Amino acid sequence: MANMIGNMELPFWLESSWSQVQQMLTDDRLPHGLVISGMLGLGKRQLADTLAASLLCHAPVMPQQLACGQCKSCLLRQSGSHPDLKYLQPEAEGKAILVDMVRQIQPWLAATSQQGGAKVVLIEPANELNANAANALLKNLEEPGQNTFFILLHHWPKPLLPTIRSRCQVHTVLAPAAEQVQPWLAQQVPEAKAEQLIQVQQMAHGAPLLAADYLRHDAPAQRHQTLVDLTAILRNQISVSEVAESWAKDPLPRRLDWWLQWQQDLIKLQQTQDSQQVINQDVVKLLQAIARKAEIKAVFSLYDDTLQALDSLYQRRNINQQLMLEKLLYGWYQLI
Ligand SMILES: [Zn+2]
Repeated sequence: MANMIGNMELPFWLESSWSQVQQMLTDDRLPHGLVISGMLGLGKRQLADTLAASLLCHAPVMPQQLACGQCKSCLLRQSGSHPDLKYLQPEAEGKAILVDMVRQIQPWLAATSQQGGAKVVLIEPANELNANAANALLKNLEEPGQNTFFILLHHWPKPLLPTIRSRCQVHTVLAPAAEQVQPWLAQQVPEAKAEQLIQVQQMAHGAPLLAADYLRHDAPAQRHQTLVDLTAILRNQISVSEVAESWAKDPLPRRLDWWLQWQQDLIKLQQTQDSQQVINQDVVKLLQAIARKAEIKAVFSLYDDTLQALDSLYQRRNINQQLMLEKLLYGWYQLI
């Protein structure tokens, strides 16, 4: 089992989160609806699993309140068949959580727990509850029943419906400091070079698990190709539609996210003329060349369009990716 509670260790940056949760458990003031909020790659699910395990365990280990890993309830949970634990998740990644899924667990919510302890519902991602599903859930959040707990994972930057948020307490998980992430990353992926550690840490906005995933899946190479394509467009070596076609084949949000970071650097460079302000130092020469020629208004307009495009991708609005990319890349082409 991946999730061996008992000797389970949370990564270092979740320790303060756990001590807050632990305090709430000790004081008996854990909210019935707890939203765990933050970027992807921070281990929010691991925190949620640890809490669910603790709530279900018949004899949590004090003072940390971690599940014992040995009682009947822990064994049931580890085998994936705990009758008092339910997951509310989309049928496939990127799909919504539908109202029927909420309705399906409502009789179970109304019944008493089978193991005589808590009942726990883990909702992931809570930002994928569609409006009907959220409405169906509101009453349960308002009147959860005794010893029933909802743990909702909210992945940034997607929005969480305010009706859900307002009925829960929110715990935010933040990225740890860069100087703490790099040694941790080096332990996880020992073959990585020092400069790769710094690079993926920036690419992942400091989220350690995402940075490790980037290292393992060669995301630096994809980022490099993104840069090569963007440079080639400016040099008239490749057409906007060719690049759009090749980009549309990969998961798009992270590519747009890197591009957006470079645009932010470009804006800083134009406003301050100070290359030390640039976070992505490996692209500083290209950005300086653009900064000299581009109109700041055009850069801002491209930045807004890219932000909007990312937003539509996150909200899964029906969009033609190829067209959207062509528009953005054309805006880039026109900068100089
Ligand atoms: Zn136990």
